[in-house]
Order: sequence, then C-alpha cells, then structure tokens
Amino acid sequence: MSENLLSLLNDSQKDAAQHIDGSLLILAGAGSGKTKTITTRLAYLISIGIDPSSILTLTFTNKAAAEMRERAFSLIDPAMINTPPLLCTFHKFGLLFLKFHMSELDRKNNFIIIDTDDKKRILKSIEKDITTSLLVSEISKYKNTLITPSEAKAGAELKLYQQIADVYEKYEAYLAKNNLVDFDDLILLPYLILKNNDKLAEEISQKYQYIMVDEYQDTNELQYKLLKKLCTSHNNLCVVGDDDQSIYGWRGATIKNILNFSKHFEDTKVVKLEENYRSTDTILDHANQLIEHNRDRLGKKLVGTRQKGDSIRIYESHDENEETRKIIDDIKKLLDSGISAKDVAILFRVNALSRSLEEGFNRAGLNYKLVGGMKFYERAEIKDLIAYFRVLTNSHDNFSLKRIVNKPKRGIGKTTIEKLDAKSAELQKPIFEIIQSFDAEELSAVVGKKNSRTLKVFEASIMDLKEQLKESKMKFLDLFEEAFDYRASYDTVPDGFDRQGNIDEFYGYIRDFFIQNPHLDLKDFLNEIALESENDGLYNEAVSMMSIHASKGLEFKHLFIIGFEEGFFPITGDGSDIEEERRLGYVAITRAMDNLTLSFAHSRFYKGKRASLTKSRFLSESGLIKGCLTIEKHSSFKKGDLVQHKIFGMGRVQKANKAGKDYKLTINFGGQRRDILSSFVEKI
Ligand code: ATP
Ligand code: MG
Repeated sequence: MSENLLSLLNDSQKDAAQHIDGSLLILAGAGSGKTKTITTRLAYLISIGIDPSSILTLTFTNKAAAEMRERAFSLIDPAMINTPPLLCTFHKFGLLFLKFHMSELDRKNNFIIIDTDDKKRILKSIEKDITTSLLVSEISKYKNTLITPSEAKAGAELKLYQQIADVYEKYEAYLAKNNLVDFDDLILLPYLILKNNDKLAEEISQKYQYIMVDEYQDTNELQYKLLKKLCTSHNNLCVVGDDDQSIYGWRGATIKNILNFSKHFEDTKVVKLEENYRSTDTILDHANQLIEHNRDRLGKKLVGTRQKGDSIRIYESHDENEETRKIIDDIKKLLDSGISAKDVAILFRVNALSRSLEEGFNRAGLNYKLVGGMKFYERAEIKDLIAYFRVLTNSHDNFSLKRIVNKPKRGIGKTTIEKLDAKSAELQKPIFEIIQSFDAEELSAVVGKKNSRTLKVFEASIMDLKEQLKESKMKFLDLFEEAFDYRASYDTVPDGFDRQGNIDEFYGYIRDFFIQNPHLDLKDFLNEIALESENDGLYNEAVSMMSIHASKGLEFKHLFIIGFEEGFFPITGDGSDIEEERRLGYVAITRAMDNLTLSFAHSRFYKGKRASLTKSRFLSESGLIKGCLTIEKHSSFKKGDLVQHKIFGMGRVQKANKAGKDYKLTINFGGQRRDILSSFVEKI
C-alpha cells in the first residue's frame, strides 16, 4: 500500500512524503506538486500505522481544504481510518479548538461568530465619527499583531489612533459581553489560551503529533505563533510554500515565516521541487518570464514536464460587453465539445469585474458559481443600495429602512433605531409612516430633537425621490446619486476602490436595465435581481468565477483571466505594491493547465464613467505581446489593405507606420483621411 501510493511521486517528492519526524520545509514553485506531496504524506503516515486523528493539516480556503481532502482520502484505505485526520482551514481549526477550550477565557462555548457586516454594525454603534472600514482594518491589525487594547491605547500618539484604540477596547468588551467572536479571534483566542496554559499546550501538541501547512507563504506572525504552540512537545511541522505566490502581504502575511523557518524549528530538512507538472510549457514559460521581473525573490528553478501546448490567446475588446461575449462564446464551444464546466474558470483581480460576466452568464443561461466571494448582489454596499430602492418602492419595508437610515452616516445610532422599532411595534405602524405622520414635537419625544430633524430631512428626500421616480427613471437615478452620495463614504477606506467599483457597476447596470427595458419600473428591476441571486450555489456542474486570491492552489484545464489593464491589473497608485501584483499575475497564470486566454479591454464602465484603458504591462513582461494575436494582426497591415472601423466604416490603408507601442495606420475613409491605431480596425 505505502509503496503504491508513493509510486506517483518523483524522487524529491517521495523523499518529502516519507519524512516522518522533525521539521520539514518544502519550497517550490507553482504546480510542482507541493500539495500533492503533503496529501500523499498524509496518506503515507496513515499507511504506516500513525493514528489519523493525530495528524492535523491546515490550509487557507475552504475550497482548497475540500480539494486536499478529496486527494488525500482517495489514497487512503477506508479500513485504516477510525477517526479521520483533521484537514481544514486555520479558522475552522480555531473554531473547533474554541468549542472545547473557551472556558479557559472564562467564556462559554456557545459563542457566535460574527461576519464582517455584523462587525461593522457593532463598530458603528460604538463610534460614528470614524470611518467604519478604517476601524475594521486597524482593529484587525492590532489583533493580528497581538496588541491588546491597553497596549494600543498606550502606544497611540495621534488623536485618531487614541480614538481607534478606545473603540477597540469597547469593541472587545462588547464581544466578550455578548459572547461573540470575530474572524481574527478564531486564531487569536486559541493562541492566547495556549500561551497562558502550558499544560494545555503540551496536551494539544501531544494530540496533534504531525502538523502540515499548505501555502505557508501566506501565514502571518500570529499564525506562526499559534503553530509554534501546537508544536510545544515536538518538532513535527511540515510546511510547503512558494515565495513567488505570497499574495496576502496586505493582510500581514510575511515571507519571513518561510525565510526563518529553519531558525524557528530546529534541524529542518529542506526539500526543493523543481518540476512543474501542471501547465503546458508555453504557459509555464510566460509565467516564469513575468515573475522574473520581481527583484525580491528567493530565486527557484522550475522547469516544465509537459509538451509545448497551445499558444496563449490574447483577447482585445472595445469594452467589457464585447469581452464577456467573446468569453461566453468560447465557453459555450468548450461545453458543446463535451468539456466539463468544472474544468473551466474565469479569474479577475478586481471583484467588480465579475458583474458583467455574471450578467452575461445569466443571459446566456450558463451555470456559474462565484467561488470564495459573495455574489455581486450580496455585497454589503450593493445590499445597501438595494435596500434604498426597496424603501423607495415600498416604504413599509422596515428591515430595509433600518439598514439604510444611517447610510451614509447621518448620526442615527442604534438606540434611535431601537426606539423607532419599539414605537413601530407598539403602534403597529411601519417606521417610515411614523416619521412621516408624527410632527416634529411628537417625533422628538421618541428620538430626541436632533434625530427627529435628521429623520424628517431623510423622509423628505425619500419622498422627493419617489416623486421624481414617477416622472423619469434616469433623472431619478441622477438625483439619487446626488442626494445620497454613498460612494463618497468609501473614499478613504482600505478596500474602498473595490467597493466604489461595485457601486459604480451597480449604477451602470441599473441605467442599462432601464435603457433596455424602458417600460419596466424599479420594482421589476428588484425582482429581476432577486431571482438572480437566488440561483447561488445550486449547481455542481458550473463554470467557476473567482478572484485571483481565491484561486490559490487550484488548477483548471481551461482558464480565462480578464481585466489585463493598467490600473486594474496591476492595481496602481497609492498603497499598491507592484511586486505583489506581479505575484498575483504569476499565481493567476499558473492556475492554467492546458489552455489560457488573457483578456483586456480598451474601456470599462467604472467609477461612475466609462474609462479608457491601456493594456497591462504584465502582457509584455510575460512576453505575450510580442507574437500575440494582436500584434500579428497589426503587423499584417500594409498599404492598400481594405479595413473596417466600428464607427468610420470601411476604408483603405494609405500608410502603415510602426510608431510607438501600437501600429499607426493612415486610412482613407471615403475621402476622409484619419490616423487610427491598428487595434481599432479589422482587415476585410
Ligand atoms: P501550487 O503552488 O499552485 O499550489 P502545487 O505545488 O501545490 O501548486 P499540485 O497542485 O500539488 O502543485 O500539483 C500540480 C499538478 O501536478 C496536479 O495536477 C498534480 O496531480 C500534478 N503532479 C504533481 N506531482 C506529479 C508527479 N510527480 N507526476 C505527475 N503529476 C504530478
Ligand atoms: Mg498547492
């Protein structure tokens, strides 16, 4: 049995899989079989009699954990297992641990995990004047660097940070009082418990005698410390990682964990894997060319084992609609030819780009699943806008009203909302009607004078909008954007770029909906999108769509990556990190096994307007622009060619200049001479 299961590995992989005691670092590039090696090692350890329940394997995403479980269990003889080995995400492990040991912190184990949305709501109820997303990210940073509220207070110099530290303290007290835990707590609390209880640390490390971690390059300081505690009584930690795939720098992940691994854990055996089994040589070659532009690398060797394969396709489109059409056409052909939807995926760097795809898939009646992310309409900022529209079509919708009454912030706190809620229950009247029908004095008696004024203003603007809506849907939308400048509230928050992108996408979409369907109204629009989001998760056989972050560790036979434009990929500007962007490019390209298509558009609807875009530097850095379809197409233009332009129609090339980056053509369109870039015309 054990011989058999190792026979699928190469020598270095075998060496690693058979390593039993002592720390082990497997350092290797994408697709070199790191995950295969540790899943095989898991099976190997069981096959030689090690108790499965003493083996713990950790990774980052649920999808990766599910895939590893499938790979490992297919190698294990079910008869060997009484209790299956624990293979899960760090967060899941933390959750299980806390279920057993929460009492160490004098807290009950019936705690509830809160999501980011709840977290924001709580923070907002504590502090209204600081942007909630800033609070979320700063508090998360404190927790991940093990800074307690009192340390944060002592260390804060700027007034803003004193305030944040203060909120942090109150937030922690609120969580403890209500027995809530946030995502960070799922790692932090287990660590704190183990740190304060040597005996328990000893016991737990006896329970899990063999620990493995996939994607170690994405662990942060806190995760390292937790692992160290789990290894209190042994040194049997095996980690695998790739410095070129470190993509969570913004969340505090540190490549130092890999660099210092041999120092952190004594007598480490290091295994390097140097062959890539996943991708065709063509794909691998371009991925390698791209990552070579990074300076900050350990430098590893990675050679292909497969054939050259098909060339990488580059799609150039005028806008996102054309891009979506091309990709959907391709995917339809793939599916028609019998390829399983499971083998097809679309990746993007910026989440907002999924909207146009989701739309296209819905229109074409193709199943898709959005992996690791929320569906477009489930994102908080979109849910807020939908709640607004619900109130506008039905002001009796209390749930939606409560969601938006303080969005963007207008000083209506939780207590006020509770008071309104209570009044609504008492009088059996919707909140909006109360605000409307009570006069200023009556309303003040319920919520105080200041809030009463605010609510009256809010009510008036909703009524104005309702009037406007009756007259013109487009004007209504303009007025709506102006009246509640909701996107501005994301101006200064860390993930604001993405969120504003989503908001703009949504506005663009609804305008488009009314242009296409002038006879339909806002209610029809809401019904339409409610149906769309209901389909979530129904399909097993579906094309996957996901962010590059969510695609870590996965592989697909047919892969599309969209949005190869400067500003979208790489994201540029303040706070962006070009080397991390490039690592994301490397991760993305190396997900492809057989066929890869990269796509860029000349314009996208974004940030409230149609933006002109230039293609990503990553296309040339990976050696794709030379010899790609685009250039080949351009280079074939010569004097006398007949060409077609989208707007100017048919024309004849008079001059073809290879000037600058693109090809400049002088074309005669029915007597009118124009200089046009070659990518904008097609040869007839
Ligand atoms: P990533 O860095 O993207 O997580 P990885 O190093 O974990 O990649 P795996 O996912 O384990 O790589 O393997 C990539 C592909 O190569 C898988 O399809 C796997 O089955 C295959 N593979 C790995 N090792 C071998 C081998 N020795 N012989 C044949 N195929 C292999
Ligand atoms: Mg892997």
